[in-house]
This record gives sequence, C-alpha cells and structure tokens, in this order.
Amino acid sequence: LESPLYADVGGDLDVSFEFFPPKNEKMDEQLWDAVRTLEPLGPRFVSVTYGAGGTTRERTHATVARIQRETSLAAAAHLTCVEATRAEIDQVAEEYWAAGVRHIVALRGDSPSGGGKFVSHPGGYENAAALVAGLKRLHPFEISVAAYPESHPDSADAAADLDNLRRKLDAGATRAITQFFFEPETFFRYRDQVAAAGIDAEIVPGIMPVMNFASVRRMSAMCGTAVPAWMERLFDGLDAHPAARQLVAATVAAELSRRLYAGGCKQLHFYTLNRAELAYAICHLLGVRPKAGAEAVAA
Ligand code: FAD
Repeated sequence: LESPLYADVGGDLDVSFEFFPPKNEKMDEQLWDAVRTLEPLGPRFVSVTYGAGGTTRERTHATVARIQRETSLAAAAHLTCVEATRAEIDQVAEEYWAAGVRHIVALRGDSPSGGGKFVSHPGGYENAAALVAGLKRLHPFEISVAAYPESHPDSADAAADLDNLRRKLDAGATRAITQFFFEPETFFRYRDQVAAAGIDAEIVPGIMPVMNFASVRRMSAMCGTAVPAWMERLFDGLDAHPAARQLVAATVAAELSRRLYAGGCKQLHFYTLNRAELAYAICHLLGVRPKAGAEAVAA
C-alpha cells in the first residue's frame, strides 16, 4: 500500500545550497565535507556568502574559485556594496570572471557598524540595483538578488519593497532568493503580491534550518522575520539535547519545504550553515536523489 504521506514526492525539485567561507582549518574540513556530500544531488548552483563589511573578501573568493575548479558544481559568489569603491568591486568581479565564475548573488549588504542606517561608500555602488547594473556592464553574469517576503526593514512599505525588487530585475538580475521565513503562507502571500505587481521572475524560497534557536531569534529580529509562537514552544527544553534539537530542526525545515513544494515551488535554496546532513535529509524526503554516476565522480 502506497503511503499517502509521501505520495506527492515526484523528484522534480531543483535545489541550490548556500555555504559560508571557513575561518580556519577545521571549518574548512567541515565545509568541504558538506560540499562533497551535497554535490551528487546535482544542485543548480551553490553559493558562498560575503562577510559583513567585506571581511571575507579573500576567503569567499578562494572558496568560490576552488568549488568552480575542483567540483562539478556551478559556483555563485555573493558580493556586496559595503566598504568598497566601484572600481574595487569591479576588480573582484573581474577576478571571478577570470576564474570561470559566471553567477553573482548581488547584494547591498549592511553598514559594518551594525544596526545603523546603510550609508554607501564614497565612490561605491549605492544599492543592489546599482551593483547589478555595474556587473552587467562588465560581463554577461547570471545575477541573483535578495527578496523579502516580510519586507526589508529599510522599506517604507511592501509596495516600496516590491518596487526595489523590480529595479534589481530591470537592471539585469534573473532571479531572487528570499530571506528566510517560517510559515509557508508568508511565502505564498508574497508570491501573490509579486505576481500582482506584474513581476514574473523566479522567486526562490530560502530555507533556514534552526540549528540554534537563540541565534535564529536574534537574526530574525534584525531582518524582520516573524518567529511564530509555535517555534518557541517547539525548541523550548532542547538546549541540553543537541541531537534531538537537530532532529526537530530537520523536521521543521522539511515540513516547511514540503508545504512549499506542495504549493507549487519547484525550486528551493537551502542555507546549509556548512552542514550537509540537514539539507541532504530534507532533499531526500522531497525526492531529490544523487544523479546517476554522480557519487562515483564525487568519490
Ligand atoms: P537593496 O535591494 O539594495 O535594498 C535594501 C533596502 O533599501 C530595500 O528595502 C529598499 O527598499 C531600500 N532601497 C534600496 N535602494 C533604494 C532607493 N534607491 N530608494 C529607496 N529605497 C531604496 N549580506 C551580506 O553581507 N553578505 C551576504 O553574503 C549576504 N547574502 C544574502 C543572501 C540572501 C538570499 C539574502 C536575502 C540576504 C543576504 N544578505 C547578505 C543580507 C543583505 O545584504 C541585507 O538584507 C541588506 O540589508 C540588504 O541587501 P539588498 O541586496 O536586499 O539591498
């Protein structure tokens, strides 16, 4: 008897994974373990974040270039407008192009002092839309940008936020990846607003597994993501039980992913936090399997 629980899983999901650049040797090992574990799943691309204030410039570059060089994956580099002139940013982009990297996740970034209003660098790109236009002038990069189902905190309102998304797409971006959110309805509502605004670009939900509830609550407060009361209850009492907490985190993220998939999302982007297991398990539940022969290549 086929269980109706997982009967809808069709294996027609496209996934992508986000990593952050490692700070030391141990973290480097963890990152590469994650990359190698997830590689056989054949993601559309994997991306590597750019630290606040451009602090990871070299590490991001080294990680992206190595993924591009040593794996079968298409690597995307995050790039922000923070603390750099246009010429400096263009130089970074040129180095990516020379390394064979064709995909940039173009972001404004945040003020390095944290919390305060963003002030663009003298001679720098003033926002993500300007960065997209600048990159497009250099080379025909594929460009992804950020989208905010619960609006960016700097936006006057949802309409202004959508206008900003439109400016980024009009400047040459091909897709948007969302900030993390915890209720599927949050995404579906946003998808409707995007469609009603006449924007037809691909909007990919960004899925953040809750590895540490306290830090997720802190990040959510900063970026305007609502943390549902049920989540607080769910993670309560798990501080001393890391293994159980990880299972709960996987369950919550898998449930969100499954609801999004059932609601028609055929693309998901996972914030992996450089840990393979959660993303791998969720993908597996959604029918994503190693591509034929991929495991042999990765080994
Ligand atoms: P923008 O799209 O430029 O806009 C930010 C806000 O400013 C919007 O609300 C917009 O309405 C307003 N605004 C912009 N231009 C104008 C204008 N001309 N007039 C009026 N209002 C305007 N940060 C990092 O530092 N490194 C990363 O690697 C990174 N990766 C990310 C990946 C994803 C998928 C997401 C969703 C976010 C990421 N961030 C990263 C965070 C991001 O840098 C912050 O959210 C930042 O505050 C906004 O960046 P943005 O590209 O969305 O900015």
